[in-house]
Amino acid sequence: VATRPSTRITRQPARGRYDRETVDAILDEALVCHLGIVVDGHPVVIPTLQARVDDILYLHGSAASRTLRALSEGVPASVAVTLVDGLVLARSVFHHSVNYRSAVVFGTARAIDAPEEKLRALERFVEKLVPGRWADARRPTEQELKATTVLALPLDAASAKIREGAPSDDEGDLGLPVWAGVLPLRTTAGPLEAAPDLPAGIELPSYLRALVDDH
Ligand SMILES: Cc1cc2nc3c(=O)[nH]c(=O)nc-3n(C[C@H](O)[C@H](O)[C@H](O)COP(=O)(O)OP(=O)(O)OC[C@H]3O[C@@H](n4cnc5c(N)ncnc54)[C@H](O)[C@@H]3O)c2cc1C
Repeated sequence: VATRPSTRITRQPARGRYDRETVDAILDEALVCHLGIVVDGHPVVIPTLQARVDDILYLHGSAASRTLRALSEGVPASVAVTLVDGLVLARSVFHHSVNYRSAVVFGTARAIDAPEEKLRALERFVEKLVPGRWADARRPTEQELKATTVLALPLDAASAKIREGAPSDDEGDLGLPVWAGVLPLRTTAGPLEAAPDLPAGIELPSYLRALVDDH
């Protein structure tokens, strides 16, 4: 059995956070994670959705997915989640950076077979995309549930790392005639694009209208 890597941040340790509140907030805000496992001796990193419920990070996908199959067989995994908050423009190119919030999780996943837990996890995935959607869209059939693998990764080895604020330029560069500061970046929603085959007369649901109006 492979030894789990340490979650203790050694580079820029002041940026490290280990409290679950910080880790959870990053996981909950990010839709996408990068899932890393070793397949036939080679590291494979795959981008995929993730959704958290309490102490579990859920991953899901097609039952035919090679990565998910390997994971459900108990292969150790690493999951990384990244939120990019801004571009940090320093006077020197050396000190250019990005503001970010990231989380890294290590662990071994288990496949969820119980239909109730599977459904609960899928509800979280859908509600994370758009709150209010689960109650509106058609629920999965038994066949669709069977075709979907859901994996649970316990959140017992996780770290977060956060860079925020202004550039950290060298003293000697502060007088240079070069603009310095941060260009914040945000993800925005909308405008909506209705499906071309959407029948006439279907109203925009209020939970979607609210999302688009907010941005
Ligand atoms: C958007 C973004 C861009 C970055 N760009 C660069 C770059 O260009 N060059 C660069 O060197 N570094 C960059 N980093 C930082 C990078 O993620 C690593 O933290 C850094 O490279 C140190 O790696 P290490 O293996 O020496 O970490 P160590 O500090 O030795 O890692 C020890 C443990 O700390 C934890 N850890 C490390 N990094 C993170 C993290 N980011 N989030 C949560 N936990 C973590 C893990 O559990 C890891 O096992 C970037 C980070 C983000 C989020």
